[in-house]
Parts: sequence; structure tokens; C-alpha cells
Amino acid sequence: MYARPTSLDEALTILGGQLPIRVLAGGTDIFPAQVPAATWEAAPREALLDVSRVPGLDGIGHAAGMIRRGARVTWARLRDDAALPPGFAALREAARQVGGRQIQARGTLAGNLCNASPAADGVPPLLVLEAEVELASLAGTRCLPLRDFLLGPRRTARRADELVTAILIPERAAADPSVFLKLGARTHLVISIAMVAASLRLEAGRIAAARIAVGACSAVARRLPGLEAKLVGLRPGEARLALEDLSALAPITDIRADAAYRREAARELVRRALAA
Ligand SMILES: Cc1cc2nc3c(=O)[nH]c(=O)nc-3n(C[C@H](O)[C@H](O)[C@H](O)COP(=O)(O)OP(=O)(O)OC[C@H]3O[C@@H](n4cnc5c(N)ncnc54)[C@H](O)[C@@H]3O)c2cc1C
Repeated sequence: MYARPTSLDEALTILGGQLPIRVLAGGTDIFPAQVPAATWEAAPREALLDVSRVPGLDGIGHAAGMIRRGARVTWARLRDDAALPPGFAALREAARQVGGRQIQARGTLAGNLCNASPAADGVPPLLVLEAEVELASLAGTRCLPLRDFLLGPRRTARRADELVTAILIPERAAADPSVFLKLGARTHLVISIAMVAASLRLEAGRIAAARIAVGACSAVARRLPGLEAKLVGLRPGEARLALEDLSALAPITDIRADAAYRREAARELVRRALAA
């Protein structure tokens, strides 16, 4: 089955029905996963709910102290949106590095979050922005902090009858400048071995607040609260990083890197992010 509803109500009614159905946004995660080795004709079919014609999902705006980006906003729109406040610098840099231009044109930030890969580049920048995920169903709308939305590899708190409708970012978090650094086996078109987003608020040259998140080094990207607390009061150049500062991480060994390398890479990326 393939459905392409033209209203939010229709989309939510289909999602709330008996038939298991998968939301289709840009398709840049869904379609490559459907054709592992065989031909497209031989690939298993699943019911798809194409949200490309649901109005309101590509909106951008502000409400009640939150910056709102609709679920269909693509990486390309984020990358090119020079009007975003300084806290979005990390997210825009991630957008510049996700896949290539074709992927950036189709792929959405919401799809990146819902796919819940430990190496999803959108997650660390949104964790330091203290983002929330807006979910709608026939029962109503709820918002979850991103840290509660992501439960593990390929697992989120989204119920089967819910559609992610927007990502919300508090304006106060978006005011602090941020950076994003990604390490892969090559510079472009690569899945991250480790990536870091960091945001610092400086007062009189000293760190008044720090938010640091590391991705691809644990089942779900993580903030580093111990390190964030340790940095307060220091000048950025004074920070000395020990491996214990990254003890919240639990990197694995896989085809891209071993666990010890990932931990060391994460420490170096955090050091460079603070210096930047
Ligand atoms: C060549 C290539 C390179 C890539 N490079 C990178 C990279 O460098 N970094 C990176 O992080 N990712 C990368 N990706 C992965 C992918 O492009 C991103 O994760 C993208 O953001 C997914 O968005 P999408 O709109 O295409 O999602 P889709 O493929 O349409 O959907 C992904 C998942 O999210 C669900 N979903 C989507 N929208 C909603 C919604 N509104 N509500 C509920 N569920 C929803 C879908 O059901 C599905 O489970 C790459 C992919 C390819 C093919």
C-alpha cells in the first residue's frame, strides 16, 4: 500500500488504523535499506505513508520562546538558512556534511532522528540546542525532549500512531554559539566514527555554561554533564581533558573503528571544539 494524504487529519487517521505503515519523508534511509543486494523488483514491500503533501510540515517559525522547524525541513534548507541564530551553527555544519548535495536536498532532520542511528549527525547539535520533538496523533499532540525521544539504536519513543510534526528549539539555547566536528574515514560522504557538538556561553572571557554532546560513541549520542560542570568558570583554553571526562560514553568496536580509537577520537574532537 502507498498513501499520500493531503491533510494532517488524513495522515493521522491512516497512522492510527489497523495496518502497520511506515512514514516516508525523503526516503534516503528507507529506500537504501530496502534494497540490500537484490534488485528493486525483488525487494520486500512495506506499506508507506508519504507525507510530502501534508500541509504545515515544512513550516518554519517561532512560538512561545521556541524556534520551530517542521518535520519536512530538509538538510539543504538548514544548511542555507543564514538567518538562524548562532546556536544553529553546529546543526548547519552537520547539514553541510550529511551525505552529498542530493541527500541534503531530499533528507530531513526529522527522518534522521526517527531513523535513530547511533551515528546520526543531527543528534549531537540538537542535544546541545536542548531540542524537543513534537509528535501528533489522533489523541493529540505531545512534545518530548530529544534525550527522551531516542531510546537506542533504531528505537525511539514514537508510538506507531504518531507522526513527528516538528523539531522545537528553545530560543535561549539558540543564542549561544556552537560548533560541530565530525571524524570519518574520509572527509566527505562518510558515516561518522565520532562527532561532537559543543556550545559555550562566555561571560567576561570565562565559561558560564557549556553543553557538549558526542555521537557514534554510544548507543545513543550523549551529553557530557560531568565535563560541562567542570568547564564552568574556566577560560576555554584552560580546559584540560582527561579520558574520565568522557566516561558517559560506551563506544563499540565495529568495521569503522575500534572502541579505544573512538574514545581517543572523541576526546580530541571535544578538545578542538572547545578551542574553536
Ligand atoms: C548516500 C547517503 C549518505 C548519507 N550520509 C549521511 C551522513 O553523513 N550523516 C547522517 O547522519 N546520515 C546520512 N545518511 C542517512 C540519511 O540521509 C539521513 O538520516 C536523513 O536525514 C533521513 O531523512 P529522510 O527524510 O530521508 O528519512 P526517510 O528515509 O524518509 O525516513 C527515515 C526514518 O524516519 C521515519 N520518519 C521520517 N519522517 C518521519 C516523521 N515525520 N514522523 C515519523 N517518522 C518519520 C521513517 O519512517 C523512517 O523510519 C545518508 C544516506 C545516504 C543514502
